[in-house]
Amino acid sequence: MAAAAPYAMALVHAGAHRLAPIACPMPALGPGQLRLRVQACGVCRTDLHIVDGELQTKTLPRVPGHEIVGRVVEVGPGCVSAKPGDRLGVPWLHGSCGRCDWCTSGRENLCPDAVFTGWSVDGGYAQYAVVGEADSVAIPPNYSDTQAAPLLCAGLIGWRALRMLPGAASVGLYGFGAAGHLVAQVALAEGRRVYAFTRPGDDAAQALARSLGVHWAGDSTQAPPTAMHGAILFAPVGALVPTALEHTAPGGTVVCAGIHMSDIPSFPYRTLWMERCVRSVANLTRRDGRDFMAWAATHPLTLSTTVYPLAEANAALDDLRAGRVSGAAVLSCD
Ligand SMILES: [Zn+2]
Ligand SMILES: [Zn+2]
Repeated sequence: MAAAAPYAMALVHAGAHRLAPIACPMPALGPGQLRLRVQACGVCRTDLHIVDGELQTKTLPRVPGHEIVGRVVEVGPGCVSAKPGDRLGVPWLHGSCGRCDWCTSGRENLCPDAVFTGWSVDGGYAQYAVVGEADSVAIPPNYSDTQAAPLLCAGLIGWRALRMLPGAASVGLYGFGAAGHLVAQVALAEGRRVYAFTRPGDDAAQALARSLGVHWAGDSTQAPPTAMHGAILFAPVGALVPTALEHTAPGGTVVCAGIHMSDIPSFPYRTLWMERCVRSVANLTRRDGRDFMAWAATHPLTLSTTVYPLAEANAALDDLRAGRVSGAAVLSCD
């Protein structure tokens, strides 16, 4: 029997709210590019925004997925060090211009011409994917393929968001899914107090938070035991911005870590007064990838994952949309 042709799960029609199987895109490799056999790909809330049309894609069909763990099967011209069999990760930032003010100052996450995996180019809900060697990141050996996948966005964006809260002795996390459960462990390892806020009634997420050692877990309508020095919003709910500010101490910062959020309602100036800040975190830099993977290599993270076969990608998206995933959803693509 002939081997089945490689396939991918793609958004074929705008507004379809679901993916359909297509023949796996297999473009010829350009200079500096690698082809990976995808082993696992994390399912991120950003994928949901793309599938549900909150983030528009210019090209269809489009294969989502930007938490790719794969092994090199083909090396394009001009690659420097990668060789077949190497295990590499592919994050959200797929490439940037390399020439603009942001790229030349280590802030390629803000490049106006940046290209993003699974949004502006095809991603990892597939059996094969293409990555630029310079944009890939080595994966610590102490994580399996499905464990490593959520590190590539949930972990990395959480890492970058936490770096925006230097010196914050207590940190509130609004939304305790894939990113929250990873950044909580980083913050705890750094000796910070961690307060986890979940959707009302999400006992599973609160139980996960407590099992990881957070100092308090409750739902987002509750007040933390003490005012926080900083907060990170992973939930795409603008109404949580004034809520988080009200529970933040003078001088504290609220970081919005999602790419899409509902509108932030107006709130009294006194909620912002006393040098409180609201800021966003956008994308990631290559340095973030290297720094976080180096940290994760020496600080073993506990991964809570629910694994779905690639063909069941729609079930994974449905479960994420409905808040039924505890921790991170991951597709097994091998
Ligand atoms: Zn640039
Ligand atoms: Zn993501």
